[in-house]
Amino acid sequence: MTRKTFRFGEWTTERDPLTCAEFGVSCREPDCDASFSILEDSRAVAVWKARHTEATGHRMFWEAYRYATVVIPPPGSIAEQKIEERERTAQW
Ligand SMILES: [Zn+2]
Repeated sequence: MTRKTFRFGEWTTERDPLTCAEFGVSCREPDCDASFSILEDSRAVAVWKARHTEATGHRMFWEAYRYATVVIPPPGSIAEQKIEERERTAQW
């Protein structure tokens, strides 16, 4: 899994290592609402597109790659205190 970290001041956003990325594709041809999405498998999207094109002749698609992120506030910040309080009082 690729991991990227983006920093904005002391705030950090990281990819959530506990959540799989999602690959999705949808057909752009008029009057076709076919779509497909899957977790952690970009090859399955390529296979779906090839099969859809073979079956319909459609070859225009939208593709999306999504992944979950986690924001980490600066140490000692009010936001960090709120997160700790929220996680401490969460119902499990
Ligand atoms: Zn289509």
